[in-house]
Amino acid sequence: MTQTSTWFISDLHLDAKRPQMVQAFMQFLGTVPGQASSLYILGDLFEYWIGDDIVDSPSGQLVKPLLAGLKQVSDAGVKLYFTHGNRDFLVGERFTEMTGCELIPEKHMIELDGVPTLLMHGDTLCTDDVEYQELRKMFYDPEQRARFLSLDFDARVAEANHLRKLSGEKMQEKSQEIMDVNQQTVEQVMLEAGVTQLIHGHTHRPNIHDFDLSGEAAKRIVLGDWYEQVSSLKVQNGQFNLS
Ligand code: MN
Repeated sequence: MTQTSTWFISDLHLDAKRPQMVQAFMQFLGTVPGQASSLYILGDLFEYWIGDDIVDSPSGQLVKPLLAGLKQVSDAGVKLYFTHGNRDFLVGERFTEMTGCELIPEKHMIELDGVPTLLMHGDTLCTDDVEYQELRKMFYDPEQRARFLSLDFDARVAEANHLRKLSGEKMQEKSQEIMDVNQQTVEQVMLEAGVTQLIHGHTHRPNIHDFDLSGEAAKRIVLGDWYEQVSSLKVQNGQFNLS
């Protein structure tokens, strides 16, 4: 493999509760230099991230080696990019400094082997889940964010745990269709961006969907989660290897 390969991962949901996946991620990082020229992390790298000062908390024991692992990859010359997921949208400057990751916006355009490609986490495509979108609006509100970040660490942990429990209960009540992307929203977002190729995560349904977008052949690639296995998309010379 040459150095022109572009890799994508998302939805690792790294957490002390799944130490084997933390281990698997460290091993995965070791394979990046020499094989990939860039690695895109499309959100939900962490199960939760309640502010960059998590590094100084007891959870820092889990987090610090991961950040150091990323930094090693970046120091080896691989370009690292990170976009927020709904679990780690509070990742900030300190994370980027400690890892060498460049923070990219919610919707980010790249040229992928010559094809304009839109990158997203993907939660904003799930517009059938009206309740989730309302909650998201609230969480992402700058005032709410500032309020949350002003709480002391333990209060943030308590609030985050409460919200995770609540969202877990809600998810059990919802149908699989509601929690998937809405095709109309996908097409609208792609047409607005002027792309025929979209890569996202969030839904944990790895797949390559080919469809017709206003008369043009379009592709939507969905990344897989890391709950039980390593999952990545490796792209080289326009060839997609989703595993
Ligand atoms: Mn997500």
